[in-house]
Amino acid sequence: MEKKQYERPLIKPLNNGLMNKFGTRTEYTAITNIDGKNVKELLKEFGSPLFVMSERKIRDNIRSAKRVFETRYPKVQFAWSYKTNYLNAVCKVFHQEGSWAEVVSRFEYEKAVNNGVPTNKIIFNGPDKTDDDLVLSIKNDSLIHIDHLDELYRLIELSGEMHKKPRVAIRVNMDTGIYPMWDRFGFNYENGQAWDAINKIIASDKLNLVGLHCHIGTYMLAASAYGIAAAKLAELAISIKKRYNQNISYIDMGGGFASKNTLKGATHLGVDSVPEISEFAEAISSSLLNAGFDNAELPYLYLETGRALVDDAGFLLGTVISNKRLSDGRRATILDFGVNILFTSFWYDHKISPAQEFSFNTEDCVLYGPLCMNIDVIRENVSLPPLNNGDNVVVHYVGAYNITQSMQFITLRPSVVMIDLKGDAHVIREKESVSDVEKNERIIDHLEKFKL
Ligand SMILES: *Cc1c(COP(=O)(O)O)cnc(C)c1O
Repeated sequence: MEKKQYERPLIKPLNNGLMNKFGTRTEYTAITNIDGKNVKELLKEFGSPLFVMSERKIRDNIRSAKRVFETRYPKVQFAWSYKTNYLNAVCKVFHQEGSWAEVVSRFEYEKAVNNGVPTNKIIFNGPDKTDDDLVLSIKNDSLIHIDHLDELYRLIELSGEMHKKPRVAIRVNMDTGIYPMWDRFGFNYENGQAWDAINKIIASDKLNLVGLHCHIGTYMLAASAYGIAAAKLAELAISIKKRYNQNISYIDMGGGFASKNTLKGATHLGVDSVPEISEFAEAISSSLLNAGFDNAELPYLYLETGRALVDDAGFLLGTVISNKRLSDGRRATILDFGVNILFTSFWYDHKISPAQEFSFNTEDCVLYGPLCMNIDVIRENVSLPPLNNGDNVVVHYVGAYNITQSMQFITLRPSVVMIDLKGDAHVIREKESVSDVEKNERIIDHLEKFKL
């Protein structure tokens, strides 16, 4: 047996082996390996901190989501939401699994094109598409999801000039019983804006209305909301058929299914309370199948699920810098990664595991990052075994939005590695260097020299 490290004695109320409401406290299990790779060796090889993506977990997630939807509805197509994690290696795993691309900017659009996604399999969402973006999407036969009337008018004008009839969908927002309502994107269902847009598109005869889209929120915990949204879009599609004898070929339900993270202030851990993807699938497919479509004319179901497919495939590994006592007696542990690379720590209580074996003693503590900023708090309160300088930790469920939203601030951004199906680790983004950050800076001549 390996010799345990010395731990200083500690006096505190006993809570050894206490169960929480859902069983034993799994947060206290040491995580020494990820997909067979030793955490400490990964840190030694690639530096600390380090993002790790599990190829196996991503593939498992998308395969299982596809299975869950395809067994409930006959025509399903996933599109990978680039903004959730647009590292090319991650996108390409999804593309290999059959996912199209869902993008919300020209930058993401170009990434999808460079990744080799056929342009007619790129869904272009978002409120900010320039004329140039629209012209390119029309030329490329991409699916353009219209967000507002100004965009609709520009599209009518541009497609007229180009003598091409682009394939479009409108984004629809609606009351699904979840408040505050996401009504800033797209056209509202209840007040008639959605119909207004549909009528204008069909009257223009310049655009080919092929789809209806919604993305009702993010980190949604109620599957029923998707049932309501799907029913409303299906109702629109069936009414379009009645009024204009035109088939809508797809209904796109967007993303937003919650991942297993725990929201701050939540009374239950995410892993115990977040609905399974099958519950979302059940709600959506039942609504669509019960809406009254002719079986031969059932629309495709598109899904732009992001976080629920990638959050648990991402880990952040880091190292303890030091410990101190705060003035109120609490233990504070300082880690080598901050909120600039773990943006989601502003709204999640991330699960954090020690990366080495430890005794049963735990103590409430605050986890700080290394930034010289008071807001740099990774966990406001977490019960962990005493961690010492040089010990390592693993942060779970960080695959969604942290890498895309990370910023270079005070420290440089770390490497990202992917562990492949054979258990080999590959760098998929190099750690940042000073020259990377300064690459686009320019010095004015008269600022070149100084004497101190
Ligand atoms: C962000 C976004 C998604 C993905 O959302 P998740 O919460 O990551 O599932 C899908 N569609 C659109 C239009 C989005 O803006």
